[in-house]
Amino acid sequence: MSHTVRRAVLVAAIGLPCPYCGRAMIEPEHSPSRDHIRSRKRRGTLGDSSNRAIVCWPCNSHKGEWSLERWANRLQRDGDQRADHVAAFLATLASAGRR
Ligand SMILES: [Zn+2]
Repeated sequence: MSHTVRRAVLVAAIGLPCPYCGRAMIEPEHSPSRDHIRSRKRRGTLGDSSNRAIVCWPCNSHKGEWSLERWANRLQRDGDQRADHVAAFLATLASAGRR
């Protein structure tokens, strides 16, 4: 995918709810960004489109190199309001056979 296409995917996501926190992805504070559901250091590969999600920058930054499952556990433990959204997103992935 070219840089232009990748940029267009992010621009198209502006205004949509972030799958991790449910807030609208609005620039600049909640800009859409590309998350690797499994970090590149673990099992994710750049060529695997099922490994990508468009999420807001604060969520992406907070998740960092954690796997989505471990991040979800951490949010739950911390009482973070995003825990329910992330759990629902994980359930969607599971039902789509993407895990
Ligand atoms: Zn978010």
